[in-house]
Amino acid sequence: MTGPTPASCIPLIIRDARVIVTCPGRNFVTLKIETDQGVYGIGDATLNGRELSVASYLTDHVVPVLIGRDAHRIEDIWQYLYRGAYWRRGPVTMTAIAAVDTALWDIKGKAAGLPLYQLLGGRSREGVLVYGHANGADIEHTVETVGRYREAGYRAIRAQSGVPGVKGAYGVGSGAGKIYEPADTALPQETLWSTPAYLRHAPKLFEAIRVAHGEEIELLHDVHHRLTPIEAARLGKALEEYRLFWMEDATPAENQEAFRLIRQHTTTPLAVGEIFNSIHDCRTLIQEQLIDFIRTTVVHAGGITHLRRIADLAGLYQVRTGSHGATDLSPVCMGAALHFDTWVPNFGIQEYMAHAPETDEVFPHDYRFEDGYLKVGDTPGHGVDIDESLATKYPYNPKQLPVARLEDGTLWNW
Ligand SMILES: [Mg+2]
Repeated sequence: MTGPTPASCIPLIIRDARVIVTCPGRNFVTLKIETDQGVYGIGDATLNGRELSVASYLTDHVVPVLIGRDAHRIEDIWQYLYRGAYWRRGPVTMTAIAAVDTALWDIKGKAAGLPLYQLLGGRSREGVLVYGHANGADIEHTVETVGRYREAGYRAIRAQSGVPGVKGAYGVGSGAGKIYEPADTALPQETLWSTPAYLRHAPKLFEAIRVAHGEEIELLHDVHHRLTPIEAARLGKALEEYRLFWMEDATPAENQEAFRLIRQHTTTPLAVGEIFNSIHDCRTLIQEQLIDFIRTTVVHAGGITHLRRIADLAGLYQVRTGSHGATDLSPVCMGAALHFDTWVPNFGIQEYMAHAPETDEVFPHDYRFEDGYLKVGDTPGHGVDIDESLATKYPYNPKQLPVARLEDGTLWNW
């Protein structure tokens, strides 16, 4: 016996999709998908420093094939955009797919009257543990900044500091409250890097933080791809006594096997993957248990649909999630990520940098910080919206990520 089709299963035909580029504090690209039933969804499509490439990919190649499709068919649309495109993977393609996927999950949640985490399988935890960024011009300044984060309630803190003799070391703001990337220049700013100076300095930073703040606080550190595998192994070993939660992006991971060498030498937990966009970028790292945390994000790794596959693979090997969550991702990505984090069984931690007040005004949301955790609301969908008229007041402002050179002028990894 068949009854009438439930309202939540009636096709929601996509009648319009458009890209909104805005700069309320920094540049964000947002995809808005509208259906014939009036239900709409939004997805983050921001690729820091390459914003307009994704905007063009969406407008020129993706939006035309979305019109007329049933927004409920998330999996089929994902496969169409991934498998159906001859040119697969890559940050631009996967960010564009992520934007569509996130918007479709938002629509499905709204149509069902359920918050996204409920669609994924329900709540696995009450709150999402987050880590904040303590950056300082020198060790003393970073120690002090860690104290401010502790006072604000953070239980986990990433610590970075300026390195003596290295102008523009990674992770150090250009002033109080200022972001440390991208540069306010039309062309990429050139920064200097010295591996020997950094390797001498980093253990002193964590020694000072432990002396000042004790054992309880979780500490993280981002190496930002600056070391070779053996240098990374040496640093991991030197940091063991300070019990880091993780050492991030110790060496570039195009060659996933390089992490075997680091792993052989240190028990400092390893995190990698914020620039990955596919499960294939981390397959060896996960299957050989060469890392402890996978940092892929909703926006750069093909949306909720693909991130779930990565997390499920990782779960088989006791690798936990630790998604990228700096302010180069819009609140739309953060909202979706928090629903994902609320559900995913092998959750580790979530990066969190509070957005500028003008960003939060353009992207109203229902997630909130409480006692070291972010908590999602129960608004149907991912709980983040965009104020389009306010967004038009902040036109796109082209910016560039910096590049790095060694002291002799050799180009290095930024
Ligand atoms: Mg990082």
